Amino acid sequence: MPSETHVVTSTLRTLHRIHQQLQDLRDRLERGPRLVRAQETNIERLSHELAGLEAEAKSLRIATDKKQLQLDSGEAQVKRRQLQLQQAADNREYQALKEQIAADQMANSVLADEILEAMEKIDQMAARLTAARAAVEKAKQDAARLAKDFQEKEPLIRGDIDRLQQEMKQAETDLPGDFKLLYERLVRSRGEDALAAVTGDFCSGCNQQIPVNMINSLMLATPIQCKACGRLLYLPEDYSRR
Ligand SMILES: [Zn+2]
Repeated sequence: MPSETHVVTSTLRTLHRIHQQLQDLRDRLERGPRLVRAQETNIERLSHELAGLEAEAKSLRIATDKKQLQLDSGEAQVKRRQLQLQQAADNREYQALKEQIAADQMANSVLADEILEAMEKIDQMAARLTAARAAVEKAKQDAARLAKDFQEKEPLIRGDIDRLQQEMKQAETDLPGDFKLLYERLVRSRGEDALAAVTGDFCSGCNQQIPVNMINSLMLATPIQCKACGRLLYLPEDYSRR
């Protein structure tokens, strides 16, 4: 390779590496707050679920307490009627009381079953509530950790971006005029996708074949764009034609 080609090729390689690193750093800058926001949404969702469970548990407890009161008064009623039964004036009254007592006892037994069932449900709800509270707590800790993590990394990422931008400016001054104009135009419109290495005889940006005459031109330090994707092509360090 002539030495001018060598300079241009190695400058384009450097610039492509810098553009890729910059893109990666910008992605990380954007990803940090996005992860924190996602975790905050998660906290909201879990808190909402917890509030729903708490409301459900509360109304179940209230309904069960009410049934318990009903059962207490039902049992008192049975006792009262059993006393009345002992003092029944005649057989008709006696029979009527006996029937009422039987009906009350039946109703009480249904209530007692319902209360038992509700108690079991309340126990199960308690386990779900514990799990839901733990999930909210964990999500809050995760969000705090993510936020802290990003807070620590952000200045480092910004520092790396500044350093790379300096390095990029420096490398850009090494580009000959005809490369520079094309390079600048492509970078403006495509960012890190302005450049692509040639691998074998393919464009590594779009995997289309590069004709031999174009590769020969690249060897002679001529600016060449991939015909398929428009990226400015360069030869990688270990370039060899397959
Ligand atoms: Zn291409």
